[in-house]
Amino acid sequence: MLLKVKDLNVNYGVIHAIKDVSFEVEEGEIVALIGANGAGKTSTLHAISSLISSKSGEIIFDGKDISKMPAHKIVGLNLAQVPEGRRIFAQLSVEDNLEMGAFLRDDNKIEDDIQHIYSLFPRLEERKKQLAGTLSGGEQQMLAMGRALMSKPKLLLLDEPSMGLSPILVNEIFDIIKTINKEEGVTVLLVEQNASKALKIADKAYVLETGTITVSGKAADVANNSRVKEAYLG
Ligand code: ATP
Repeated sequence: MLLKVKDLNVNYGVIHAIKDVSFEVEEGEIVALIGANGAGKTSTLHAISSLISSKSGEIIFDGKDISKMPAHKIVGLNLAQVPEGRRIFAQLSVEDNLEMGAFLRDDNKIEDDIQHIYSLFPRLEERKKQLAGTLSGGEQQMLAMGRALMSKPKLLLLDEPSMGLSPILVNEIFDIIKTINKEEGVTVLLVEQNASKALKIADKAYVLETGTITVSGKAADVANNSRVKEAYLG
């Protein structure tokens, strides 16, 4: 098991946003966490990477209990998050953003890996000197994913990668997620409101509703669940 979340609880003041959430991600999988606005998807990811503190629960990553570990230590454990809204460094070039993704590495393969990222995202190579803030939404998403990959993660947490993108770009981003998983061997925890797309590429899925997991199983089975079909798949 690469990631195990058990009985996670997150409170914001009196709001009990995450209630006894448990799920598991095995090495090599794409696991989708789907749910409507405000269901608690982002809070779950933020609790894993310690951007918010959880009230209780266990988070085990790669055999280590990270539930009380500070965020900067977690980054050093090969767990990378691509946040909602990308958060690229707008005033830096594309290439400098990619280099920033490698800031914790001390090996001499960084330049090779930048070239590798360009092979995954040719559009970034064409724009490598461009200021990141001037990229389109889809290109910024690619850059945020490329930057996260530069840290050589075992587990990539993706928060709504399709948000705000045109249907063509959504397909492109989802194809790249598949490639990163199948060809690069990166395990992916994918948070998405676009349930139909997420369920197509995921191995396993969990449905989060007002802070509670209500449906879980193989992605194909979740996609066939009548409640999921009605509420999320139109
Ligand atoms: P979305 O898809 O809209 O981003 P989400 O599933 O990611 O939604 P969260 O952002 O995790 O949901 O929010 C879960 C609940 O916690 C919501 O009711 C939200 O209003 C509340 N919440 C999130 N962050 C805070 C905060 N900093 N302070 C108070 N309440 C918060």
